[in-house]
Amino acid sequence: MSEENIKPKTALVTGAGRGIGKSIAEALARDGMKVICVSKSESSCGSTAEGIRANGGDAVARAVDVSSSEQIKLACEELLSEYEYIEVLVNNAGITRDNLLFRMEENDWNDVLHTNLTSCFHWIKLLGRPMTRKRWGRIVNISSVVGLTGNAGQANYAASKAGMIGLTKSLAREFAARSVTVNAVAPGFIDTDMTSDLDERVKEVALSQVPLKRFGTVEDIAEMASFLCSEKASYITGQVFTVDGGMVM
Ligand code: NAP
Repeated sequence: MSEENIKPKTALVTGAGRGIGKSIAEALARDGMKVICVSKSESSCGSTAEGIRANGGDAVARAVDVSSSEQIKLACEELLSEYEYIEVLVNNAGITRDNLLFRMEENDWNDVLHTNLTSCFHWIKLLGRPMTRKRWGRIVNISSVVGLTGNAGQANYAASKAGMIGLTKSLAREFAARSVTVNAVAPGFIDTDMTSDLDERVKEVALSQVPLKRFGTVEDIAEMASFLCSEKASYITGQVFTVDGGMVM
């Protein structure tokens, strides 16, 4: 058995303070990984890490604003000097700034693209190199079904999520020879803070488009991410997995 199979793996999950990212961090901790929980505010990633430790898992928290390349670079420098090699990266942090195109401000475009997409470029560039050197790694990018279908009022968000899919497929090809897999998960409508503010009418319309007739839970997404980060998924790379109750077939 190789050293990688014995040593507990370290995973970094962005946007781990709430919602889907929190559930992914908890799932990876249950899988036996040490989890570095990243979110914008110290208190939210801190409380996720504390919850994991209270349940017997291993986790630390790190506040990083992923829209800042400087903050990502500084965090990676410090983390890599401590851990040398982080085997698993889940790019989950994301925001929306919805509006119809003619009303969308340039800031709303830039904030969404920097937070959702450019952040992935920086994290993967910095944490991917040790993965390729060690010839084992798992990268999972949390995209969205709107990255596949588009959505009126979400040109910035859909472009960022479609960009994550192109990034995933390109890097899967670049890293494959080093046994580093890169996959994307495209959630449908999941019950989190991101969707809780939506108008009841919008929610009704969304639900009518879900063949399984319910909104997804954060655990539905965490289960898929946990599988893709495991040894069991070693022959899967460059794929996009929709977890959406059958919305996009
Ligand atoms: P959420 O409940 O709004 O949580 C977002 C998380 O991202 C929070 O922990 C937040 O940090 C973190 N975050 C936001 N901006 C950040 C920044 N600049 N730097 C660092 N962390 C930042 O979102 P969610 O619904 O769980 O969504 C998670 C991911 O799934 C997103 O990428 C989203 O686009 C995608 N997704 C969600 C749905 C859905 O229906 N919910 C559907 C498809 C795709 P703080 O806790 O510190 O604020």
